[in-house]
Amino acid sequence: MKIHKHEVIIVGAGGAGLMAALYASEGGADVAVVSKLYPTRSHTGAALGGIGAALGNLEEDKPLWHAYDTVKGGDYLADQNAALVLAEEAIAAVVELEHYGLPFDRTPEGRISQRRFGGHTSNFGEKPVRRACHSADRTGHMILQTLYQQCIKNEVNFFDEFHVVDLIMNDGVCAGVIAIELSTGEFHIFHGKATLFATGGWGRVWSFTSNAHSLTGDGAAVPLRRGIPLEDMEFYQFHPTGLYGLGVLLTEGIRGEGGVLINRHGERFMEKYAPSIKDLASRDVVSRAIYEEVQKGNGINGKDYVHLDLRPATVNRFLAEAGEDRRLTEEDIRRKLAETLDVSRTYAGVDPLKEGIPVKPTAHYAMGGIPTNVDAEVIIDAVGTVVPGLYAAGEAACVSCHGANRLGTNSLVDLVVFGRRGGIKMAEFCKGADWPDLPGSAEQVTAEIRAEFERIRNSNGKIKTYQLREEMQKLMMEGVGVFRTEELMAHTVEQLKDIRHRYMTDLVIDDRGTKFNTDLLEAWELGCLLDSADVTAISALNRKESRGAHSRQDYTERDDDNWMVHTLVYRENEAPYDPEPRYSLNMERPVDVSLADEDERFIPKARVY
Ligand SMILES: Cc1cc2nc3c(=O)[nH]c(=O)nc-3n(C[C@H](O)[C@H](O)[C@H](O)COP(=O)(O)OP(=O)(O)OC[C@H]3O[C@@H](n4cnc5c(N)ncnc54)[C@H](O)[C@@H]3O)c2cc1C
Repeated sequence: MKIHKHEVIIVGAGGAGLMAALYASEGGADVAVVSKLYPTRSHTGAALGGIGAALGNLEEDKPLWHAYDTVKGGDYLADQNAALVLAEEAIAAVVELEHYGLPFDRTPEGRISQRRFGGHTSNFGEKPVRRACHSADRTGHMILQTLYQQCIKNEVNFFDEFHVVDLIMNDGVCAGVIAIELSTGEFHIFHGKATLFATGGWGRVWSFTSNAHSLTGDGAAVPLRRGIPLEDMEFYQFHPTGLYGLGVLLTEGIRGEGGVLINRHGERFMEKYAPSIKDLASRDVVSRAIYEEVQKGNGINGKDYVHLDLRPATVNRFLAEAGEDRRLTEEDIRRKLAETLDVSRTYAGVDPLKEGIPVKPTAHYAMGGIPTNVDAEVIIDAVGTVVPGLYAAGEAACVSCHGANRLGTNSLVDLVVFGRRGGIKMAEFCKGADWPDLPGSAEQVTAEIRAEFERIRNSNGKIKTYQLREEMQKLMMEGVGVFRTEELMAHTVEQLKDIRHRYMTDLVIDDRGTKFNTDLLEAWELGCLLDSADVTAISALNRKESRGAHSRQDYTERDDDNWMVHTLVYRENEAPYDPEPRYSLNMERPVDVSLADEDERFIPKARVY
């Protein structure tokens, strides 16, 4: 068994991991990035529409307005100090990406171009503002390529196709991780002073999702099994415009450019649900509106989808009605939304220049995750006690700057702002910190995870991994999806126990080998998905109100008197792979309202659209 020693170990090579790696290496640390995917295949590369920053290149904009939109969009559950850091540091981060060579689209004057996105407004909700910086509709791809090049330049060590499967804790201190090398099946120990999880989300918990197959919540489950809590897991965002049939994402940038949602009567129905901001209302609002239209029988052709209409004739009619002087041409669409044209034509056989694109809400983004402070340090309780040596950033983390619902473009900002802060903090930490001891010999440290893999490898039942996974995904889609009730969620919690029981007792693995054993790893990933599903369902069942992405039909109102708190969920079992996990909830972590203390516009109030 190999032991690798690097001061900083980063798990995940998406935008958050690479940004942290870049800054930790700039700070003089010896950095290793361990990733189950080749870095540029990370999901950040699929991000389309843009990265928000109040540059004010096309119209007046301010970081405080960006922070306000973030807090309001998050239905007031966002920690306001974190939202302000996000908004203020977004500007420097975007400028820096530009200096690293990121090819942003330009205004005629040569400045970074910006477009509208849902929920982003000027002057505290007055009108939509152009804040999203973009590189056509391939912004994430450009960020990932740019950061990877910079990391290579800084001689960061990359361990590609190494699957991290366990966290090494020694007496409350993090000492690194254990990984399996995909090509050999060997276990490796990565021993570090500082370890950062940047493993992305867990959209594969649901059956209809925009997320890549790799997003299985490993970075939620692995720390959870080692005693680290997860925060606000009930808040999972459904993006309104998933391509019908597949769930592939169609960017909000389409509506930013003027695209509208239309029901079977040809109505622009968002005028009813959000009269002022219409199609650019925040994602939870638009997703619920689509569901309601479908429930009323207004889906296209009597089916469960609506049309996203981007045809210049439609868009220009609404722009003229709104008194706007800009117009959209086919040439604009070809240039700014090339990916949208391509995806619609390839996967739905639809030409957006000639017809509406069929869409329905798709599971998209985890607001919750590993709890951290604004320096990406992992915290373990309601008062913010830091776990020495453990960090998290990006979608896997919960800072919480997005609260109950994230605004479009704010994830890419989150990656670069908090990835950078984490990198800087880890480099500082490594200068002062001693090497933590491993809690035993290499054999002892890896004993539990090796036994778990042997158990899975020898599974000799009747059910294949994909069958159980599909069952879980369908259950979660119906039980803990866009709309929720006590009855459905309680049923889901119970059914998940049954699925887990069969996972432990009746799974079958075809490939018993060691090399490139994706069969084995997929089965292990299903365990992570089940853990993520469990804590999502339990946290959702517990929260008796509707807020942001958590929308209950039995508690339809937001309840600030009782629920202005973050959820922390813990796994209680001593043994990390106990077949019957038990969970506890702590509801004592208050929401930071430091901006509301100074500015009454940040005091929670009912949302008006
Ligand atoms: C289709 C799509 C479009 C989007 N568009 C936008 C947008 O326009 N603007 C915006 O702000 N946000 C957007 N988002 C959201 C945003 O892209 C993601 O939230 C963000 O990219 C997540 O980045 P990350 O660095 O946290 O993780 P990811 O980019 O998902 O990377 C995760 C990394 O972790 C590694 N990993 C995972 N598990 C393990 C393990 N067990 N061992 C080792 N490595 C592991 C993977 O190999 C990968 O390198 C979009 C998301 C999707 C799905």
